[in-house]
Amino acid sequence: MIRYRQKQKRRKTMAIAVFLFLIFAAAGISFLISSRNSQIIATADTTEPDNPDTLPKGSVTEEAPTKTEIVCLDPGHGGKDAGAVYKNITESELNLKVALQVRDMLEADGYKVYMSRSDDSFVYKRPRARYCNSINASIMVAIHHNSYNTDHNVNYSTALYNKDIDKALAASVLNAVSEKLNTRNQGIATFDDSLLYIATMPAMLSEATFITSSAEYQQIIQKNSPRITAEAQGIATGIENYFADQTASADITSTDSLIIDRPD
Ligand SMILES: [Zn+2]
Repeated sequence: MIRYRQKQKRRKTMAIAVFLFLIFAAAGISFLISSRNSQIIATADTTEPDNPDTLPKGSVTEEAPTKTEIVCLDPGHGGKDAGAVYKNITESELNLKVALQVRDMLEADGYKVYMSRSDDSFVYKRPRARYCNSINASIMVAIHHNSYNTDHNVNYSTALYNKDIDKALAASVLNAVSEKLNTRNQGIATFDDSLLYIATMPAMLSEATFITSSAEYQQIIQKNSPRITAEAQGIATGIENYFADQTASADITSTDSLIIDRPD
């Protein structure tokens, strides 16, 4: 009787052990699946810690400024985040090339210019805007390029904004860029993006050209590309026009839907 009870007890213990094992195994498998999924989602720079301590190191011009306005330039993507890619050109490197020239042009004109990154380092999106807030920038200009791999003839200039105070800056930069590059001016469009709404000052995101455009590609790959310099001149001019007269640019809000691969 005692032995029978012990046997019964042992069977019960075994059943509980098997039951627990199955639960842990199921939990383990579902964890593996979910972590694999989150790795797929995390290929873009969308998943990031919401931590103000992770402000980028950034950089600032050394010349003593003669102008009072402070510009914060944000070359999009960088490091493990290449942004859009076409052939051997990554958006992250093109954005940086343009931004470094914009910085030099504005510095030569007497502006103090900060950059969220001035090399190929990876920076999360929210800290970029927080960085521009932390240095009391007058404006933030994010530099990106569009992509549309379905048709390599697609090419136009646009600018993205979020807040009402962004619109005049976005329009001013877009108008100057489009004029300088002789690209179709597609108008400015709203963009619900953390970078733009965390920035407390007028902020905009420039999409001067399509990195996937065959015609642009031929010009971008040239040594000391005049096309890249022209784009930088357009952005710098748009910024200075904005500082000169913030009401000068007409409302050029886009009514067409944009043809793009990705919103940033
Ligand atoms: Zn981008």
